[in-house]
Amino acid sequence: MKIARVEAVTTTFPHEREPLSYCFVRMEADDGTVGWGEACDSFGCSYAGVVGACIEQALAPLLVGEDPRDVEPLYAKMRGWTRRRLGDQWVVMHAISGAELACWDIAGRAAGAPVVDLLGRVRDRVPVYASSVFLEEGPPDWHVALLRPCLDAGVTAVKLRLGTGWRSDLETLAAIRGLLGDGIDVMVDGNECFTLPTVLEIVGRLADLGVWWFEEPLLQHHRRGIEELVRRSPVPVAYGEHLFGLHDAQDCLERGQALVLQPDAAVVGGLAESRRIALFAEHFGVRVVPHCAAGPVALAANVHLAASVPSISLLEYPYPLAEFWSHAARSPEWGPGALVDGCLPVPAGPGLGVDVDEEALRRHPHVPPPSRAGLPIRFVGDR
Ligand SMILES: [Mg+2]
Repeated sequence: MKIARVEAVTTTFPHEREPLSYCFVRMEADDGTVGWGEACDSFGCSYAGVVGACIEQALAPLLVGEDPRDVEPLYAKMRGWTRRRLGDQWVVMHAISGAELACWDIAGRAAGAPVVDLLGRVRDRVPVYASSVFLEEGPPDWHVALLRPCLDAGVTAVKLRLGTGWRSDLETLAAIRGLLGDGIDVMVDGNECFTLPTVLEIVGRLADLGVWWFEEPLLQHHRRGIEELVRRSPVPVAYGEHLFGLHDAQDCLERGQALVLQPDAAVVGGLAESRRIALFAEHFGVRVVPHCAAGPVALAANVHLAASVPSISLLEYPYPLAEFWSHAARSPEWGPGALVDGCLPVPAGPGLGVDVDEEALRRHPHVPPPSRAGLPIRFVGDR
């Protein structure tokens, strides 16, 4: 079996605040088998055209003619041949993630088995937490109503996002905390937009509310600040959705920069590399809760990841993207209606188990980001 064709299928789909883009990888083998991967650059794939060009121009020539079932050698080949030109992080690793997932999908389809069974299955369903929107987007009861389908389906942890109006956001969060009751864990995402003095003020408030973790509070490269924060914060600090490859995660762990690590198979280098990161993190006493914030293939990949690592007992579930999931894939159903006791079942089909609706993706071709005139130079939540 040889790879005959590798194509990036990029799409832009309506979403509440503005349309969201996604980047899929369509890999076709010479026997006609088609595998699908997906690359995420943090939330969907905002720069899908850029990542797609990397897939088609840099990675496809390395893959065509090779056996797609040789996933690990192909991963090493992609990194080895691009590292000294395109780097070993960010866009090229997003692209490599998507291509690696497509290889896994074909490998599973060729074997007639779900990918999790090629990796070693440890569970049939994966507990998820509801990853929700920015606190500034609505009043407390609106947030709880938005979360309701997940809560009714047995989800027992939710995450909300702090923005520039963090003082009023914290008041909204306190009210939500009260409305949810004691049985629900609450986490907060800071999206790297605060400075250390502000974060130290915020974590005191978060500790009072019993918040489980504070995610990406400081710029990821403010390493000394993060190390100081982890030492001083009463609330565990989470990083990992922008740590690429095991070497990045190892550096983070050895410096003690996170107590919760969040690799994503569609972001940080693919499924096998995410597993290596997760298994390695166990030795540091760090909890691993994979990040997930893109389309149905990325979600499937992270479900297979979580179902194949004993220590992963929770996965991010970005339920506001559910409308796109049902648009982009005929099956499985990934929306809150698919949750059983707060868990997503591992897809039963071969490969990653997603029946991608290629026609639906092509009906909404990718549109590059619109003009950003008037936006501030950098999003800083301190003000
Ligand atoms: Mg995040």
